[in-house]
Amino acid sequence: MVSVLIVEDDSAIRSALIRALTAGGHAVTSAATGMAGLTSAVDDHPDVVVLDLGLPDIDGLRVLPMLRAVSAVPVIVATARDDERVIVQALDAGADDYLVKPFGAEQLEARIRAVLRRLATATPDPTATVGALTVNPVTREVTLDGIPVELSRKEFDLLYLLAQRAGEVVTKREILAEVWRQSYGGGDRTVDVHLSWLRRKLGETAAEPRYLHSIRGVGIRLVDPGRGDGDDTGQSGS
Ligand code: CA
Repeated sequence: MVSVLIVEDDSAIRSALIRALTAGGHAVTSAATGMAGLTSAVDDHPDVVVLDLGLPDIDGLRVLPMLRAVSAVPVIVATARDDERVIVQALDAGADDYLVKPFGAEQLEARIRAVLRRLATATPDPTATVGALTVNPVTREVTLDGIPVELSRKEFDLLYLLAQRAGEVVTKREILAEVWRQSYGGGDRTVDVHLSWLRRKLGETAAEPRYLHSIRGVGIRLVDPGRGDGDDTGQSGS
């Protein structure tokens, strides 16, 4: 399922697009302003953003570089005017493709497929694989022994961080900064709670860890249990 964020202030167009894309099997989120769109692009991790250029708060041409500063998500801009200068500016500001209004849902779907296809061929597979565990940050899918594991957003972010740095001890401070964007202390409990949910979903426990090893007072290390990394048992607190 492809998740699409629609940033469009015209409520009639917005609901028509939401209806059409939802009917096409996509997960759709929407925003009516540039600021709300930026927030949603960061928080909801959409696969594609459809960005109207004529927005009430920030011009879409100014939203683009702000979005590019925080995300590499493909962006299709929608413009009301078939204005070559505006289209060139949008593409130069980081848009991947554009549509001229009015456009039909079929054309939008085709553009979405096209940008995702280009992305898939242009970027190496970012999947983190550790033993029988795979974590794909693009589809946000996790499998263990080939079986899908359903995770919440934070559980996924935590697992992906640990899997990317498999074999290394990742400190709770780093986890809070990366996953929760918190720089202050005192959030250890948050990490512990999510870690215990994650363990349960991966079918392991703190007492009998397989992938997730707590190093008491330091952090967490994700290891490939099949490689017999028994060398950390001496220092592991759990
Ligand atoms: Ca508009």
